Amino acid sequence: MAQLSNIAIVGGGIGGLTAALALLRAGLDVDIYEQAPELKEVGAGVQISANGTCVLHALGLAEAVERVSSVPNAKEIRLWNTGQTWKLFDLGAASVGLYGYPYVFMHRRDLHAILAEEVLRLKPEALRLGMQCVGIAQSKTDVTLRFGNGDTVRAALAIGADGVHSKLRESLFGAASPQFTGCIAWRGVVPMERLPPQVSRRCGTNWVGAGGHVVHYPLRRGELMNFVGILERTDWQVESWTVRGTTAELANDFAGWHADVHAIICNVEEPYKWALMVRPPMPRWTQGRITLLGDACHPMLPLLAQGAVMALEDGLVLARCLKTYAGDHVTALARYEAARIARTSRCVNGSADNAQRFHNPNLGNAAGAEAYVTQEWQPERVKERYDWLFTYDATAVPI
Ligand SMILES: Cc1cc2nc3c(=O)[nH]c(=O)nc-3n(C[C@H](O)[C@H](O)[C@H](O)COP(=O)(O)OP(=O)(O)OC[C@H]3O[C@@H](n4cnc5c(N)ncnc54)[C@H](O)[C@@H]3O)c2cc1C
Repeated sequence: MAQLSNIAIVGGGIGGLTAALALLRAGLDVDIYEQAPELKEVGAGVQISANGTCVLHALGLAEAVERVSSVPNAKEIRLWNTGQTWKLFDLGAASVGLYGYPYVFMHRRDLHAILAEEVLRLKPEALRLGMQCVGIAQSKTDVTLRFGNGDTVRAALAIGADGVHSKLRESLFGAASPQFTGCIAWRGVVPMERLPPQVSRRCGTNWVGAGGHVVHYPLRRGELMNFVGILERTDWQVESWTVRGTTAELANDFAGWHADVHAIICNVEEPYKWALMVRPPMPRWTQGRITLLGDACHPMLPLLAQGAVMALEDGLVLARCLKTYAGDHVTALARYEAARIARTSRCVNGSADNAQRFHNPNLGNAAGAEAYVTQEWQPERVKERYDWLFTYDATAVPI
């Protein structure tokens, strides 16, 4: 016998939980169906810029975020081999002054836990674990979801927040055909006390070099250092967050890079690697009573640090649309798409453009790098690249 629920969210990741919380706060009823048997996120960091913390503050999570995040007191660019350093604008206090909200670094598990705790406080039975959605169908009046364990659920609306390999996207629009970028990414987390003092600073660092770049920043109020290393390499094409590599392979990929980079690499005990794929922006996210959010509809390369932030914005804007146009899902979902597709498409394309910028051939030698970095990271250009992102207010954008 099928159960009837109001709004069904498939996927309890950052986007699904944000949408659930925003909907519950708007007085709408939701259930979240997550395939994992227990609630846990991968061990990795995430940067949340002002446009994302704006959403978290609006959802009442300002204090919880402050408790577990790191606020950078600087951001810098460093050259891959010499370590030459260029200071960028201060993102910590300056972000609040410029954009109204802080720029923070968080452990994904902490962000996920904060969202989940608040969802469960508002609706203790909202989250159904071990529920892998394997099929979806809709009629004029409702949506039916089928799960791998044989359960069936009926809902008035369904939201696919099921990530980059979205089952719901495939059901609505067919299989995506991702293109391999020619880049792979390594990630890992290191206890801060293992790092030398010149590396373990409260600073976000972006190392740039011809054919690769490395980003590292502190997590959990400075207890951990998050490491992401991206480089051009074509012999690995598995798009997965959970495939492990070895520390030796990671070190070999960054052979010749500065000792400060290797001071982190040699302490990454569990390095994970995955292939970076691109998918072109989608012109539509909705069909009838089913829509998508987050990586399910706009997966992007992690080169603008906006994937999770866009999922936060999506969740809040979608909840506002469903609340404002309650009873008229056609208008609500059309307004949601109208508010979100152009912006997220710009992020998808902007992230891809950053691969050219961060891996530019000019970065191969110190003289070329000096001219290139000075030109590309001059304050006006940086402002141009980021202001449109950071000034967006998901709580007030017209819907
Ligand atoms: C290395 C790296 C660094 C990044 N850094 C940043 C950053 O600094 N800032 C930033 O904003 N973004 C960053 N991102 C991007 C960000 O992590 C993603 O955009 C974000 O996680 C998307 O959230 P989501 O909720 O849409 O999808 P996900 O986080 O993938 O969540 C999807 C959920 O759906 C569940 N699911 C999947 N299929 C089913 C199914 N069939 N049935 C039920 N449940 C299902 C999954 O188990 C999962 O819990 C980074 C990404 C990478 C890879």
